[in-house]
Amino acid sequence: MNKELDKFKEEMIDACPLFFERIRSRWCIECPNNYHGYDIGPGWFGLIREVCELIEMKNRVCISEGKPTFKAVFLRRVRKSLRFSVSAYNPDPVLNKLIELIEEKSKTMCEICGERAQYRNGIKSKLKILCDFHLNETIREEG
Ligand SMILES: [Zn+2]
Repeated sequence: MNKELDKFKEEMIDACPLFFERIRSRWCIECPNNYHGYDIGPGWFGLIREVCELIEMKNRVCISEGKPTFKAVFLRRVRKSLRFSVSAYNPDPVLNKLIELIEEKSKTMCEICGERAQYRNGIKSKLKILCDFHLNETIREEG
């Protein structure tokens, strides 16, 4: 699964070079769990991709207008939802609302498959927002 995340990161960094300018640095890629960077399950890839591509389009407009761009700081689950942290010297209420919406949506999306899910207590797995199927699979694997 880490291979899957690495591949996704590479794709996203290629697709959104302005947004991932900070995360692209070697230091971040080698230390995926540091404060900058991202660490998410495959069930959230589609959600993340849509938002990042939208921000990248906004960034191109920012550059053409000589305004500062939006930069990803970190994308990961914090407690019971996705946290999508963006640095901006150019705050945008529409973008902030969009991020709020996807963070809310992530609370009920399985981190493995994207199906309807909820936060699960009492499992060792790093992925905690799971559908019934993946909860059972995780419990079986953890014995
Ligand atoms: Zn699932």
